[in-house]
Amino acid sequence: MANYGYAGKIIKVDLSVHATTQLDTSDYADRFIGGRGVCAKLYWDETTHYTKAYDPDNCIICTTGPIAGFTRFAGCRWQMCGKSPAMEPESFSYANFGGSWGTWLKYAGFDGIAVKGKSEKPSWILINNDSISINDATHLWGKTTVDTETYFLKTLGKEARVMCIGPAGEHLVSFAVVMASDNATGSCGFGAVFGAKNLKAVVIVIDKKKRPIASDPAALKNFAEIVFKLRTENYENYGHVLIDKKKVRACYGCISGCDRQEFPDESGRGYKHFCQASAVYIEHAIKYNGLEEGLSINRVANQLSDQYGLDTAVLMPMFGWLSACYNAGIITEEETGLPLSKIGSLEFVIILFEQITYRKGFGNTLADGTIKAANNVGRGSDRFIGAVIGTRANETRDYDPRYMPVHALIYPFEPRRAIHLLHSTSLVTGRWQNYLDGYKDAFISPEKFYEIAEEYWGSLEAGDFGTMQGKALAAKMIQEYGYMKESLVLCDLSWPIYPVKYKTADSGFCTMEAKILSAITGKYFDKKEYLRTGERIFNLQRAIMIRQGTGGRTGDTIMDFYHTDPLETMFKNPECIAPGKDKAIISKKGNIFDRNDFRLLINEYYSIRGWDIETGIQISDKLKELDMADIGFELGRLGLLK
Ligand code: SF4
Repeated sequence: MANYGYAGKIIKVDLSVHATTQLDTSDYADRFIGGRGVCAKLYWDETTHYTKAYDPDNCIICTTGPIAGFTRFAGCRWQMCGKSPAMEPESFSYANFGGSWGTWLKYAGFDGIAVKGKSEKPSWILINNDSISINDATHLWGKTTVDTETYFLKTLGKEARVMCIGPAGEHLVSFAVVMASDNATGSCGFGAVFGAKNLKAVVIVIDKKKRPIASDPAALKNFAEIVFKLRTENYENYGHVLIDKKKVRACYGCISGCDRQEFPDESGRGYKHFCQASAVYIEHAIKYNGLEEGLSINRVANQLSDQYGLDTAVLMPMFGWLSACYNAGIITEEETGLPLSKIGSLEFVIILFEQITYRKGFGNTLADGTIKAANNVGRGSDRFIGAVIGTRANETRDYDPRYMPVHALIYPFEPRRAIHLLHSTSLVTGRWQNYLDGYKDAFISPEKFYEIAEEYWGSLEAGDFGTMQGKALAAKMIQEYGYMKESLVLCDLSWPIYPVKYKTADSGFCTMEAKILSAITGKYFDKKEYLRTGERIFNLQRAIMIRQGTGGRTGDTIMDFYHTDPLETMFKNPECIAPGKDKAIISKKGNIFDRNDFRLLINEYYSIRGWDIETGIQISDKLKELDMADIGFELGRLGLLK
């Protein structure tokens, strides 16, 4: 593949010896495209099966995809991966960022950056056009993310793009985030990996944007117009927490924005108000203070978590667990030093966040995540985990497999809550529900829902949430599509764009995505080749998980409470209403995921994937078929290949 769409180089930094080198992007992008695919291949090459999250040998990698730099496609997002401390056992994991930092990296002349080693003292990396330097950050250590960004904007100019950590990352809080310009956040504990490397920030300054070149600019321009029409005419705002004084804050290069917004603090500094983060403390704050003050305190909680660099997806269920443990008399205010009788107050949040961030007192226990904290506290506190947490990475419990059975084949193969896959079904189902509830602008009727099931998930049965039929194929299709989305890197909230009100010959499953990729790179992708590439990237992640010892039959599980506890409620859907057979409406309330159903589903899935049915590990011929013989060779050397 020529360098159409790419900058052509990836930076490699060794903080231990303060050295930088450069790699050719084409060595990675030819088979793995960009974003998640290239990130994962770099991780495969740069680490071993025994690399630990806080080892200097851990490699933290950021990559853009071929669409970054081409606007109007919502394709300027970027990826990060590395060994994450956020779950037990530690695992390879990833994060997806919006904003503009990734595109600025490409505009500086690079498709990615891979950082290994550990600096002796706090440091920051400057990418100044095509020159890279490692600098002393002692004076920045201890600063919040906001103060760090402000410092760089003052000293390097307002156009600088900043990625940095706050005090939570410096103190190795296992769910510390990395923050980047335009309020972009990346979770899964990578802030702590930065902290372990003594890396405070990576900053980009450019004099002139080195814009990528498309192989077929005229076709690309035409596609941008079609995409705009498809997106704006087929878009329904899902609707998150409403606030006043908000303003739209779309990511760089978006099509037409979404409900990604920001709100100002007293100084006028904008904070992101978006998705789950916008509701981090809302339930408790409203219950304790009433609606108006509760909303305001929730916003402060949101601000503080960003400033310290704490992950809201972990904090949100942690509030629920603390509350349940306190109400059950398992933990006390005296023992924890937390005003637990005031959960919902501003005072509680301020004390809790400070304890966690600086690992003070009980905060030191919580800083390793709620699941580990429950193990540490004991006394039956783990029985409240299932009510609030849905992943090994301590994240919120949503997108429940007891409701959507296909998700039982998404969670086992991911180290964390794989939103890019879970949204494939949940956003469609949420809009189907909105249609039934008579929402204005709702456009996914029952007929449309089953059409989508057939085209995007492989069968009509895939749209029936009351059966296991069709779910193995649906999971495979969702994963292949999703891994390409993460590699291009297209935004999950824009793609796929379901052709509903407006249709063209270019709309439909993978069609437009493959055309955009072809027009940019000059390499022809039809639907088959597009999905085959997604299958390759998915198998690369599988190989990483197998190599680190967390994949395979014994590791391919969902959290145990899904098998034992009946489903009580769903987000905005207390009766757990779901689509059933022949457009019937069913309720999944009270459902549990039967262990035998799960075992049979996994068997069918391994078979469709071409993996060994007994162990779930990959088969040499399958990897060769996917042009991954080198990966297979390494797995074989480790005795992890059939
Ligand atoms: S749709 Fe929203 S989240 Fe996605 S790129 Fe656009 S603004 Fe960002």
